Amino acid sequence: MILHLKENITEEHFQTLAKSSEGVGYIKDGKTVLILSSKVKTVPESLTSYVDEYFVTDSDIQLASKTYTPEKRSIKIGSETIGGSTNHTMMMAGPCSIESWEQISQVAEFLKPLGIKTLRAGSFKPRTSPYTFQGLGEEGLRLLGKVREQYGFNIITEVKDSSHVQLVIDHADIVQIGTKAMYDQSILKACSISNKPVLLKRGFGTTLQEFVQAAEFILSGGNENVILCERGIRTFENKTRFTLDLAGVAYLKEFTNLPVVVDPSHAMGYRYGVPDLTRAAVAMGVDGLLIEMHPAPEKAKSDSAQQLNFDEFKSMYQSLQPIAAAVGKKIV
Ligand code: PEP
Ligand code: MN
Repeated sequence: MILHLKENITEEHFQTLAKSSEGVGYIKDGKTVLILSSKVKTVPESLTSYVDEYFVTDSDIQLASKTYTPEKRSIKIGSETIGGSTNHTMMMAGPCSIESWEQISQVAEFLKPLGIKTLRAGSFKPRTSPYTFQGLGEEGLRLLGKVREQYGFNIITEVKDSSHVQLVIDHADIVQIGTKAMYDQSILKACSISNKPVLLKRGFGTTLQEFVQAAEFILSGGNENVILCERGIRTFENKTRFTLDLAGVAYLKEFTNLPVVVDPSHAMGYRYGVPDLTRAAVAMGVDGLLIEMHPAPEKAKSDSAQQLNFDEFKSMYQSLQPIAAAVGKKIV
């Protein structure tokens, strides 16, 4: 159950009420929001005198649910918007990892004339093996800051663990929480008390319920700017790296109020399938796309097999606008 409390409650009083009702919540922008377990179906007597309005929810998908807010959330990213009533599908493209200034400036020079406004690149890389490239770390964030300054891109970059979560929040326009970090409570907590937009990827072994509940950890601390990203789940199939769950995307669009992004690159794992999966996602009218591309994919220090080269990216990109238009969208 979600309760909107009356405005004149102090932070201290709010914390006392939250504790005694075993709830969580926040006071922000004139809103006082207290969330109790979804098992609670009537307003507890001790709270009735403080409540302005309340929402009964059928599971712990609460703040993210359409029961609470039927309209899709609109999230500001610099001068751009994702979600809400915009007809935009936000293209977020770039290499898996930032590797050098030379590499990232080549990518920026290529993407800029296409009208793409959001550049992706990881600097803290959550790798499967400790013996592979782990990312440039803080130095990479500095270079990404230079990309923003010089070319005007919004930057999405990922956080791997809580030791650098504040650093990433401070440097990124969108903080990406990856498939392996999705359950990290320290990362979720730090993001929840910030206003920075967060792109939360679905854990590859995570049900949709668990996925959206992870988003609830961020939302319930007062950060209303959460974007969900489907990036493939692990199934019995091993010809592809993961299985892109487009049925799950349909579920998220239908039942949550959060913008939904699709990452076909990590799902497929091989460049040959990425354009087709991207077109399928665009046809579903998703709010954004996260695509890996690299000036020389064969030399990439991470996820080499799935990154598109410039020509492959461009021809895919050109094929997307008519599909987007057919579902009333525009790729930006
Ligand atoms: C990435 O975006 O490069 C990445 C590591 O993604 P995921 O967390 O989905 O594997
Ligand atoms: Mn990657």
